[in-house]
Amino acid sequence: MSDPDKGRLLLRNVVVLDGTMMKARTADVAVENGKITAVEEAGELLAAGEVFDGKGKTALLPGFVNAHTHCAMTLLRGLGEERPLMEWLKERIWPVEACLDGEAVRWGTLLAVLEMASTGTTCFGDMYFFMDDVARAASETGMRCGLCRGLIGDDEEKIREAFALADDWDGFEGRFRVQIGPHAPYTVDPVALKRLASLASERRLGVHLHWLETEWERDYFRTELKREPLELLEKTGLFDVPRLSLAHGVWIDESDFKALARDNVTVLHNPSSNMKLGSGIAPVSEMLAAGIHVALGTDGAASNNRLDLWQEMRTAALLAKVSRRDPTILTAREALRMATVEGARTLGFDDVGLIRKEWQADFALVDLDRPHYTGWDRENLISFLVYAGSSADVVGTLVQGRWIQRGGHFSFDDGKIRAEALRCRKNLVS
Ligand SMILES: [Zn+2]
Repeated sequence: MSDPDKGRLLLRNVVVLDGTMMKARTADVAVENGKITAVEEAGELLAAGEVFDGKGKTALLPGFVNAHTHCAMTLLRGLGEERPLMEWLKERIWPVEACLDGEAVRWGTLLAVLEMASTGTTCFGDMYFFMDDVARAASETGMRCGLCRGLIGDDEEKIREAFALADDWDGFEGRFRVQIGPHAPYTVDPVALKRLASLASERRLGVHLHWLETEWERDYFRTELKREPLELLEKTGLFDVPRLSLAHGVWIDESDFKALARDNVTVLHNPSSNMKLGSGIAPVSEMLAAGIHVALGTDGAASNNRLDLWQEMRTAALLAKVSRRDPTILTAREALRMATVEGARTLGFDDVGLIRKEWQADFALVDLDRPHYTGWDRENLISFLVYAGSSADVVGTLVQGRWIQRGGHFSFDDGKIRAEALRCRKNLVS
């Protein structure tokens, strides 16, 4: 006999807040088969299946979306610190990456998932290699993700791999989407970009690439490509792919903002990585004002060095304010929206990132019964979370209504992941 309550969960008396709500509200949230089926006044809903009692002092936020990362770089954390970007890549990162194999990528990815799950992240956008191993690892954990095989040059075998990844994993359990991932305009020439854009459009797949991260890259357009960035997007057909995710966008010209304000284009802002690598300050508040979609990412663990969206929300808001000497820009609410629904959308999930009926039950639960939340109320909770809160307050992470982390306990073997990742790291870097 099947259990009628299986797959049902009631989150009772939780403080609901997402990036579109002006005020938090105390409510009961019902979940069935991975989706939110009701959000009602606390006490209104009858218990069915499992019950979690938030006691009026646990916030229920949409799970965070880390829209741009390179998961397995957790194995490379700390390597070649504090060097210029190109020197760091060429001398410390790329030689070690050349020795990576599927097993190392598997454990490095699981280590990243463990870290993200502990901080309330429920979805990540990963660009790397051995993506089949990444997909298998992620599938075992229950996390949601957008995956792309990083492509350099126009290697046929790798391009074939990129599309095979889509054949095998796009749509998997409603949790996986696959993108096409040309690394950057300085590693993939315009002819190859055009071909990839056309194939991606044909297959209705998104494209995820690094875009104007450094000033050097901006100069490369002028001196080597001899065309403007916008012209490249138009001529290669990248502008017409279903979803275009432009990672970094630090050096996007103001004159291009209007053209980039398109439904299918999202800039992935990685403030900590940009600061640590000295890449510059992305003009995010101006982009938002122009109507450009902006999401948040951590970038890889070797250049951040955390995979923690709380840090990115706070940093994005503070960096925008100090860089323009204007405390009114990039609000806490905008930061939360960038860290949740905007990232989900560009990775291909249109019903992820808000607490609404019929949307996916991907959540971060936050304990408000802590000293730094003293005095929170429905109006100020958003600023308490973004400016006073941290990932240390996360007490639960759920994807499709399933607990990935609860009170520091994981749905997978975290001890084994840490031990195996350490073994792989030692093989790589010693
Ligand atoms: Zn990156």
